Amino acid sequence: MAGQEPAIRDLKAMIFSYMAEFCDVALPVPLDMAFTYRVPAGLTPVTGGRVLVPFRQQRMSGVVVALHDKEPNVRAKNILAVLDSSPVLDEQLMGLGKWIADYYLAPVGDVFRTMLPLTAEFKRAIAYRITQDGQTALHLAGMSGSSARARRTPEEQLAEFRVLDYLAERETVREESLRSATRVSKSVLAGMVRKKWIGREDRSHSQEAARTVRIAVLKSAEGKLNANQRALVDTLAASGGRLAVETLQAMEVPRSTLGTLVKRGLVEIAEEAAGFAVSSLKARPSLLELDFSAAQKRALSHIRDGVSAGKFSGVLLHGVTGSGKTAVYLAAMRSVLETGGSAVLLVPEIGLTPAVAADLRQVFGEEVAVLHSGLSDQERAEQWHRIKQGSARMVVGTRSAVFAPVAELRLMIVDEEQDPSYKQDETPRYHARDVAVMRAKMANAVVVLGSATPSLESYFNARKNKYALLELPDRVEQRPLPEVEIVDMRQEFQETGQEQVISRKLAEEIRARLERGEQAMVLLNRRGYSPVVLCRACGSRLECRNCAVAMTHHKRSHRMVCHYCGFMAPVPKVCQECGSEYVYFLGTGSEKLEELLHGMFPQARIGRLDRDTVRGRDDFERALNALDQGELDLLVGTQMIAKGHDIHGVTLVGVVGADSALGLPDFRAAERTFQLLTQVAGRAGRGGTPGKVILQTYFQDHYAVQYAARHDFIGFYEKELRFRSWMHYPPYSALANVLVRSDNLDEAMQWSGTLGRWFEKTRHEGIRVLGPAAAAIVRLKRDYRYHFVLKSASREKLNALLRSMLAYASQQKIPRNQVIVDVDALWLM
Ligand SMILES: [Zn+2]
Ligand SMILES: [Zn+2]
Repeated sequence: MAGQEPAIRDLKAMIFSYMAEFCDVALPVPLDMAFTYRVPAGLTPVTGGRVLVPFRQQRMSGVVVALHDKEPNVRAKNILAVLDSSPVLDEQLMGLGKWIADYYLAPVGDVFRTMLPLTAEFKRAIAYRITQDGQTALHLAGMSGSSARARRTPEEQLAEFRVLDYLAERETVREESLRSATRVSKSVLAGMVRKKWIGREDRSHSQEAARTVRIAVLKSAEGKLNANQRALVDTLAASGGRLAVETLQAMEVPRSTLGTLVKRGLVEIAEEAAGFAVSSLKARPSLLELDFSAAQKRALSHIRDGVSAGKFSGVLLHGVTGSGKTAVYLAAMRSVLETGGSAVLLVPEIGLTPAVAADLRQVFGEEVAVLHSGLSDQERAEQWHRIKQGSARMVVGTRSAVFAPVAELRLMIVDEEQDPSYKQDETPRYHARDVAVMRAKMANAVVVLGSATPSLESYFNARKNKYALLELPDRVEQRPLPEVEIVDMRQEFQETGQEQVISRKLAEEIRARLERGEQAMVLLNRRGYSPVVLCRACGSRLECRNCAVAMTHHKRSHRMVCHYCGFMAPVPKVCQECGSEYVYFLGTGSEKLEELLHGMFPQARIGRLDRDTVRGRDDFERALNALDQGELDLLVGTQMIAKGHDIHGVTLVGVVGADSALGLPDFRAAERTFQLLTQVAGRAGRGGTPGKVILQTYFQDHYAVQYAARHDFIGFYEKELRFRSWMHYPPYSALANVLVRSDNLDEAMQWSGTLGRWFEKTRHEGIRVLGPAAAAIVRLKRDYRYHFVLKSASREKLNALLRSMLAYASQQKIPRNQVIVDVDALWLM
């Protein structure tokens, strides 16, 4: 892999491709195989490059995995075009892709597609979006629909609502993604376009232009032009012959016009390095200018030594909240840059705010590329090309940045490695932290996993000396960790005679902070106003028509919302089942908490941070800035407020019902609760004044609550590891969740029964199979769901069994999309 001169490799690829008659192509389809095509004269595909091929009446782009002369048994079709003259996936990334396909049992074509953020460059790009009529249809269906009626809805209509639901949560979606997510035929989509429920766009031409990208250069204005072409050429001429393609596309001419001019040679598209949007916020003092503590210095020099050793090693950087991990990351990355290598820093979804981007820009200037889900396809492709060309060697991004095509990778950092956003919840269901470790191994690089609350898996690996454990035990400038006081809410109930949301103690502490001009945060990890609507006459609760879960009342937007599928319905005045008027709204969400606090502290300026108030990264940043600038006294919100930001004025954190997860049937519930409590407690007292935490709980004896209150990480991990070991749960076993789903209940039951009988009569020594059982949420997004949980001390055995199970399922004609295999599943719900 390493060490081979690029020039020699290119030469070998040229000779090899010159001779090859056939090529094997991995396509993004749910089949575990590559497809063989003939290479017509004149085309020279390369291994690791993309080609365009015909596949079942479609044209599809796939990655060449092999070139050869072995004639296949069936007649091979010709490839249509070569999209890349040099590999977009180098040998190492190809190897990584194959490892992912194998480890997570995912089709390799799907894996490659995930690794290449180049959807903007696919030749044929049909995209769909929901229209106003579609929104209305979705809304009306919600008003008339009871779940009993939904069961009798014809299949075609169910399919249509799957599409509407999917699009309602997104802007525009490409046809391939939409069809694979909703499993509908093209004719259903065509019918919906006719009904004007969805809009269809052909983005092929604009995307084609985006491929080499950016600037249109006028070459000649001669020749016959139609009105549209004339308008475009005149505009270009008037702007000095050069104009951004984006600007031209905003003109009122068909999008194909530019493509036609390019084909005729009148306009050329030139690539121009585009910067990325930098935060308008004023730069903060560089993190690298601060004095490093002794522990920070030790961690940094350990990482630097590892990098210069030039072989794989792993580090778990366990630093308490506020101990300065980020400064260590940036210093380590800068020393990699100085020695000519590349580094990748992964951050959780919400962690990559404009302020963080600005920090990075300040330290690395033009050398940094930023990849996150807020980028358009085009922007992402641009960043990808900058990295591939070697003009950006420092990469920062969310999950998929683990695939950044950097050369000379020396350092891979995963910040907040326990964050669940690193696990992709669609195929391939990879965990970016684990992929980062594997990639570092392949590249002989150093991997650093950083966290204030490491995952059980990583802590276990460190204890077994797979990783070096580096500790940052103190906060910067020796600031103390906050004092935590537990309030037993059962006792509070007994003493006050009613169910309280805010305990007397928490109210008193908030009041004291407000009087002193200090700030407070209150966490309630549930958004909306009331989580349950119940009929007191017949006892039924209002459920989503697509999912077996209660709908949440959102008071300000005046509607009921399903937090699982996004489905909305009007607020009921009478019970949907019995018509009674005794409809009660129960429980408290963050919206109601905000209202309660307003009532208790009318003078306080209160902000709220949850998915209803935060639409994008900017909103998140704005709320935190307001707090930082002292424009807010009190911030309430969901787990979003617990994420690693640094607000110095906050001296009190109240935790309301953060332990409700402890009641869930999930073996990771204690770990998640401990992590959340620790993270949110860490927001208190990061400035000069010591912080305090009030932890309200109904589970005051639970060890997750007790250890979090004492900041006792080791105590919690040791206890939790014992529990996992008894129960044969990870990290003591490899675990997979196999979910069987269908929007038809009989089908879901029949398929899971078929697989259940197969598991029973198949020998699987050393593997425990639990199920089939109804999933904790038995109906989700219109699918009925049954599942199996498989556990084994041997990952090889587990994956072998899963592979034969999938083969059997396909033999039994169970569609591959309906059997979801989630290796190392984070959620068993
Ligand atoms: Zn009722
Ligand atoms: Zn729902």
